[in-house]
Amino acid sequence: MKKTETSVRPRPSWDEYFLKLAMLASERATCPRMHCGCVLVKDRYVLATGYNGSLPNTPHCDEVGCLIVDGHCVRANHAEINALCQATRHGVNLEGATAYVTNMPCTACAKALITAGVIRVAIFSDYHDTLAERFFRETGVQLVRLPMPEQSIRYDLDDYPSAKAPAGQ
Ligand SMILES: [Zn+2]
Ligand SMILES: [Zn+2]
Repeated sequence: MKKTETSVRPRPSWDEYFLKLAMLASERATCPRMHCGCVLVKDRYVLATGYNGSLPNTPHCDEVGCLIVDGHCVRANHAEINALCQATRHGVNLEGATAYVTNMPCTACAKALITAGVIRVAIFSDYHDTLAERFFRETGVQLVRLPMPEQSIRYDLDDYPSAKAPAGQ
């Protein structure tokens, strides 16, 4: 039975919403060692998104295996770099943006985010061997650790009085 239109549904905060988008982006990741997602946001607009995966038009780690150098996979671009590069391709200015990332950036990604003009980084999980926190502190970038958003997406057609069942059902 449909619920009434006045029923109150819990609504994510902006931070939860964008972090959840970063989690969603991570579902596209292709390096089996880690699935990361990054969403670059300014004034509540999504400017770019990224997940860790191979260079354009090359096979992914989950197809041909990781390329390990010094204990790290170097085949996959990290999520933050892919989001920064997407912004670059579209000519988007990231000055003053917030980066929502599923985990603490590695040192190289932290440096790239800072240099691109990101002033706030929101994460919910950590990462080993990174100088990100130190560089954020030294450059005045605000780092916020938030609780991990709900892993499910709440969407039930039966919740909406005007919803129709998908075609064929
Ligand atoms: Zn890999
Ligand atoms: Zn990185």
